[in-house]
Amino acid sequence: MTPLSSKNDREVTLQQTKAATGASAVTVQAQLGQNTMERIGNTPLLRLESIARNLPGIRIFGKAEWFNPGGSVKDRAAANIVAEGRRSGRFMPSKILLDSTSGNTGIAYAMLGAAHKFKVTLCMPTNVSLERKRILNAYGANVVYTDPGEGSDGAIRKARELHAANPERYFYADQYSNDANWRAHYQDTAEEIWRQTSGRITHFVAMLGTSGTFVGTTRRLKELNPEVQCVSLQPDSPFHGIEGAKHMVTAIVPKIYDATLADEDLGISTEAAHAMVKTLARDEGLLVGISAGAAVAGCLQIAQRLVEQKKSALIVTVLPDSGDKYLSERFWDE
Ligand code: PMP
Repeated sequence: MTPLSSKNDREVTLQQTKAATGASAVTVQAQLGQNTMERIGNTPLLRLESIARNLPGIRIFGKAEWFNPGGSVKDRAAANIVAEGRRSGRFMPSKILLDSTSGNTGIAYAMLGAAHKFKVTLCMPTNVSLERKRILNAYGANVVYTDPGEGSDGAIRKARELHAANPERYFYADQYSNDANWRAHYQDTAEEIWRQTSGRITHFVAMLGTSGTFVGTTRRLKELNPEVQCVSLQPDSPFHGIEGAKHMVTAIVPKIYDATLADEDLGISTEAAHAMVKTLARDEGLLVGISAGAAVAGCLQIAQRLVEQKKSALIVTVLPDSGDKYLSERFWDE
């Protein structure tokens, strides 16, 4: 893999930055990262001031996951799945990485494949956004398109079929069943949130897709403080427009999902998610994706209830990606 900059460039930058900030070289190096893997994680935790403006005692924060090099939270899971596959010997250099994806995991695999020189085949419904298809093409991934009517489940079935027909050819990463998915969040996302809030987090809120983000982060946060309330969110109907999210009651339930971890589970409508995406853009100056809008809409429901109960809270959610992949969606003009 080619480093981002030459060693000399990096040293100059580090020395200059160190001089300007007084930070240690090690810290600065960790922040900049040297290669694609190292640039994953340590995302900023943004305070959503306007959203919580009329909510006394409530602070809402969002983890800005589009700062990851592939542009989404899924870089974390994908990188850990690849690393664990290599460590265990299951992902041998001769094999092609195969998985089903609604887009972001595929982008992460494709980026890692390009950087680390392995081949990637992805199964994906044809109706994912054009922007996602273009990004995958840019990274050079091979995409097998599936029936949009069958949603992400159709893509899962296709990946299983390809793997069953040719098990020697593929490393089937299977993000829905792979423990390395949730472990990425157990090891990193939760620790970052704990550190960034100095352990003062009272509520953790996240949208369910594979459930890796919610399951891993919740498991670790509950160990650090069993009092932290963890709320999962999902679309409120099987036919929804929240890309990357799963309606668990009607979908193939991911093997890694553990519904008993949540203190509460809330349904969010696509309309509420769209409305919040617009509010975040226009009131907060944050251009986020639809599942991030849904996540903040969920935080707001919880916050309003806490205000009625005259309780204070520090709520943290995950903003899985930015809005630039969804700019062609019609809701912007409605
Ligand atoms: N939002 C978006 C935009 C996603 O791509 C995903 C991943 N499918 C999620 C939310 C859910 O994340 P997870 O798979 O970790 O549950």
